[in-house]
Amino acid sequence: MFRIQHLQSLGAAVVAFGCLLLGGAAILSNYNDFQRFGHGAEEMRVFVLVLDSANAISAERGPANVAMAAKPSELDEALVALEQSRAKTDDAIAVMIEALTLHHVDDQARLTAITEVLESLNTGRMAVDKVVAVPLEARTTLHVPLAIMAMFRAADSAADLRNEVSGHLVPTTPQIAGEVLLASSASALREQAGRLGSYVVMTLVAPRDEDANYALLMDKTSAIILNIWESGLNNAALFSGNDTIASLVERVEAEYLDDAMPMAIATAHIMGPTNGMSGGSFTEVYVPGMASLESLRNELVELSLTMLETRRLQARQAMIDSALLTALVISVLIGVGAMFRRGLFTPLLALHGEVVALASGDLTTPPKAGNAAREVNDIFEGLAILRENQREKRRLEGLQRQMNLRLKRLSETDTLTGLLNRRALVQRADALFRRAKITGEDMAVVLFDIDHFKNVNDTHGHSVGDEVLAGVAREIGLLTRPTDAFARLGGEEFVIILRRVDLEQAISIVTHFKNQLHRNPVQQPLQLKITASFGIAMRLADSDESWDEIFRRADQHLYAAKNAGRDRIVSDSADTAQRIA
Ligand code: GH3
Ligand code: MG
Ligand code: MG
Repeated sequence: MFRIQHLQSLGAAVVAFGCLLLGGAAILSNYNDFQRFGHGAEEMRVFVLVLDSANAISAERGPANVAMAAKPSELDEALVALEQSRAKTDDAIAVMIEALTLHHVDDQARLTAITEVLESLNTGRMAVDKVVAVPLEARTTLHVPLAIMAMFRAADSAADLRNEVSGHLVPTTPQIAGEVLLASSASALREQAGRLGSYVVMTLVAPRDEDANYALLMDKTSAIILNIWESGLNNAALFSGNDTIASLVERVEAEYLDDAMPMAIATAHIMGPTNGMSGGSFTEVYVPGMASLESLRNELVELSLTMLETRRLQARQAMIDSALLTALVISVLIGVGAMFRRGLFTPLLALHGEVVALASGDLTTPPKAGNAAREVNDIFEGLAILRENQREKRRLEGLQRQMNLRLKRLSETDTLTGLLNRRALVQRADALFRRAKITGEDMAVVLFDIDHFKNVNDTHGHSVGDEVLAGVAREIGLLTRPTDAFARLGGEEFVIILRRVDLEQAISIVTHFKNQLHRNPVQQPLQLKITASFGIAMRLADSDESWDEIFRRADQHLYAAKNAGRDRIVSDSADTAQRIA
């Protein structure tokens, strides 16, 4: 069987556990999001460094092309610009490598991709240096394209690394997959635009008969550029819903697709190597046209970072909200639980205690219970009434017992003298006689009668006679022991049962009675003295004699005492009257 305490504890435990489970699940899920978005932002920053490196490698081709196409007078300046550009690339790569290896030092694919970038860049640069080292007029037409192609390979390995990193980033935070892919596309677009520029430079430096090859490569590259553009980037504004992106998309269209790109194609196709434009002067015009591509790429990356940060903060807020909500729900439940406890469970336990106490007869008023529910309070009040009724009943029973006792005493008492009456005496004697065998006590039955009492009545009146009767009871009563039974049989005849006495002791005691009457008046105003005659019958412990038999003998002795002249004692010891002074 359940006990209330158990139910209470079980209920509280189940509710608390449920709340903690639900709240904990919500908090944990939000905490995971918070961590994930923070981690995603970190990865995104690394990804940005990879894009920066790829961009730097692409951008390095500009000064390299200029240097390779430079006239001896322009060469020194071009070489300075190339060195600066390479230093920038090296810085970007160093920062990228540090970031990439910080958390993924054991990622073999990534390490291989990084090594590939470094090696191909080195190869590309060496090819460029080789071209530059040869005097302009001694350079064969193949030298420049080979160096440019080698630099393309460096850019390709940078693109491989970029794809490797974005491949990790997208599954971590699929929420920004779109932005990551668009940023990758923008990076690829920048690379292809750079290549288009390189092909134009090659056209400018190559002999006329190789133009067709470069024209083909340019057409292919411009097709790739348009393809990349139209497979998503052109709709980047729609996708992101961002105004800055929208204006950058317009800028790319206006500054690159509609301006720099057609200009580059026209430079190669229409004008050809004889148009008077050198590789260097073309690069100077073309490169600023690509700025919008880089801005678009940067903005897309920025947008992803902002989104990640926003989501991270949202997750943190949701985590805080769910923790607060859980705390609130638990507090409310604790409050409700406390109300149930105070209003129901605790009072029910108190009620249980009260009912058990009442059933076992404990009628003390228990301490008042606190704020119990109204219905429970009604039960408390009902119990209080029940308890009050029980108390009243108990009081009445007490009264009844007292009354019965008084009635019994009255029925056993002689009203004039306050002694036992005949009926009570006979009962007492029966009981004593029955128990005598067990208690082993000898008893004496003393019967006495006032001498010439009729004279008192006749001389002083009946009421003085009554006073004499009461006086005799008082005077003799003073000499009896509490255990002795003293009764008035009727008229002026009395009986005393003396307990635990032998005949000798009985005679001695009765002699005291008789002397007491000699000494003391039994009626004060008239100073009346009387005498009495006594008959003593012994009843020994082992005797089977009945009250009637003993009484008859005592009566015979009394009769004998009267006959012998009154004011004397006659007992069992001899059947002859015996006068004792
Ligand atoms: P004896 O010495 O032989 O006993 O003579 P006695 O006069 O004492 O005996 P008797 O039997 O002749 O008289 C008893 C009287 O006691 C008769 C009766 O009126 C009186 N008496 C009986 N009961 C009461 C009572 O309750 N009050 C009073 N005042 N007198 C009573
Ligand atoms: Mg008499
Ligand atoms: Mg008499």
